[in-house]
Amino acid sequence: MQIEYRCTKGLLKFHFRLQHDDLPRSDMKMGETSCEIHLPPDWDIEKVHPDVLALASLLIIYPFAGPRILLPQGVSQRFHDLFRRTTKKEILPVDPNLTPRQAPHPSVPALAYSGGVDSTAALLLMPANSCIVFLERIIPLHQKTMYNKEAALLACNTLRNEGRNVFIIKSNLEYVREPVGFPVDIANAVPALLLSDYAGLDSIAWGTVMDSAYQVGHLKFADYKQRLHFNRWGKLFELAGMPFNQVTGGICEVGTSIIVKNSAYRTIARSCMRGTANKPCATCWKCFRKGLLDGVLEQSTPSYSELDRWFSLPHIKKTLNQFPIHSENIIAYISAHYDGHHPVMKKLKKRTRGDTLPVKWMEKWYRPSIHLLPEKYRGFVEKQITKHLNVMNSEEEQQAESWNLETYRTTDEFQKYAAELRTALDTHPSF
Ligand SMILES: [Zn+2]
Repeated sequence: MQIEYRCTKGLLKFHFRLQHDDLPRSDMKMGETSCEIHLPPDWDIEKVHPDVLALASLLIIYPFAGPRILLPQGVSQRFHDLFRRTTKKEILPVDPNLTPRQAPHPSVPALAYSGGVDSTAALLLMPANSCIVFLERIIPLHQKTMYNKEAALLACNTLRNEGRNVFIIKSNLEYVREPVGFPVDIANAVPALLLSDYAGLDSIAWGTVMDSAYQVGHLKFADYKQRLHFNRWGKLFELAGMPFNQVTGGICEVGTSIIVKNSAYRTIARSCMRGTANKPCATCWKCFRKGLLDGVLEQSTPSYSELDRWFSLPHIKKTLNQFPIHSENIIAYISAHYDGHHPVMKKLKKRTRGDTLPVKWMEKWYRPSIHLLPEKYRGFVEKQITKHLNVMNSEEEQQAESWNLETYRTTDEFQKYAAELRTALDTHPSF
């Protein structure tokens, strides 16, 4: 893969040329072979560290690149070596005189902000001078999309009017991937990386929740620091002077919802990307999950007719029939708090073990996650978290660490409840 870029008055354009050794993938294809990023007009590409520029490029093209990635400008030897060690691919050329980036003094942390509940919780845990960076997707004129950025832009403007340091950076980089989306799951960090020296940034946070970081919304608990994601991307970011600052990494979606609900930002946080500025779409999976979760936290039981409506939506049925269910721990938490009579919800409670699984730990902070933050911010963030949430005791930590759907899947009980849920969903009328 050959990468080229040029920049005029803050408009950075990338071109990607595929080489014979770039291999196609089955799960995602390369869509567009170019993209643009609208940085501030006085942003100067000459002042960006080449390792940072390389890392930003990698987040856009990594899944499509073969064994050699060629840049117009050399990277540091250490960046080259670390990339080769963690990916078995090469990034070239190497500039032997280049030393890795050091964050400037003074510096502030960045947040790759999405406007959703989880990244709003992250914002509430970070220092007030944090730099908030929102990647605004440019939608090509000929494209039809359900994506709606109104709510997120409104949130950005509210934060800006409060005096927060907010950058809204437009880009169409998500169209490099087909289907449209981030080629690497943390590609929404590209604007913050490119702004790292412009805005004096020393780290990057996302609203990554424990459900993803420690996989407790997936098959089996895994220590984030042992995972490939951290050992590849985390280390490369660290070498580029932008270490991960996973402030919500030890907090489940239940906890992030609690934090946001009890804050002044409860009205601006919106996880649904399909509604308008005033209203979530009330049909997507996020609306289903976050909506029912909010209900639990408000101690209200969803009505029979509300559940009837949710279970009649074909994509909700489909998601609930999958294994694991997306964010299965949160569905377990929701079902654990359901004592009503809706037949599908009762089957869902059995299937997700809402009747037997301990779920209280999902409301609390998993303290070992403090190691996912740069030392500089640990004290501040811990203080903020413990203002909002209780800390898991050792028994609860154990419950989180023993999350394991692989074992559950092999039981007769799972087979029985999965089949019963499937029948209940299949026979429930679709609208
Ligand atoms: Zn929605």
